[in-house]
Amino acid sequence: MAMVDLKDFSLSELERELPQISAEKFRAKQIFSWIYQKGVFDFDRMTNLPAELRNKLKDKFFIIGFKLVKKSISRDQTQKLLMGLDDGNLIESVIIPADDRVTGCVSSQAGCKYACGFCASGASGFKRNLTCGEMMEQVLLIKCNSEGNKLTHIVFMGTGEPLDNYDNVLKVIRIINSKESLNIGQRRITISTCGLVPQIRKLAKEGLQVELSVSLHAADDLTRSRIMPINKKISIKRTDRGIKRIHQRYQ
Ligand code: SF4
Repeated sequence: MAMVDLKDFSLSELERELPQISAEKFRAKQIFSWIYQKGVFDFDRMTNLPAELRNKLKDKFFIIGFKLVKKSISRDQTQKLLMGLDDGNLIESVIIPADDRVTGCVSSQAGCKYACGFCASGASGFKRNLTCGEMMEQVLLIKCNSEGNKLTHIVFMGTGEPLDNYDNVLKVIRIINSKESLNIGQRRITISTCGLVPQIRKLAKEGLQVELSVSLHAADDLTRSRIMPINKKISIKRTDRGIKRIHQRYQ
């Protein structure tokens, strides 16, 4: 039987899942606390769970699945983690410490289909969307590799276009924002996009308070289309109009 990534589950989903292995619903909160609050990724160390349940969890679920391929640390203490996924794809996460904050930069896809001229991620094309669990694993590895296990901000600015993996990215945001998990405030979470206006409009209706960062890289359509092919479909004017409408709605 294929092992299941436990980090693919929101708390309510895990509460619904546990009875299938004859475990009480309330155990889900305990498991969340071990993984996300205490940074314990080994079921055997979850000492308030009965031994029988720990064995059942070990038979069905895994918590950490990546291989850390390379860790680079720059002089300003920014760390880059290169990680191998089980299908051989590689992704990167970055830890950026600055003053009293530590920002984790998370990848949302393996590869990217938008082929921006300045970006290495798009050069080899799109491979696949990352799962919720694969993004949660980056968040956990960022946290446990940062000094003092500190993680205050998250930016979806690694490999991939986060709004092209909309449902999984939003699920991750809701999990890391929840008080049973990492409790990172929504305003400390940024989605960086090349400007997918239909998804930006959809995001505006979600009732989230996350930050949005739109990469323009040029002030006119001719230059931007040369650098960012997405501009041929969604021009600066359309991007600007879309964002202005959202601003008006919230003023
Ligand atoms: S959308 Fe983002 S990840 Fe994709 S090619 Fe452009 S800058 Fe790179």
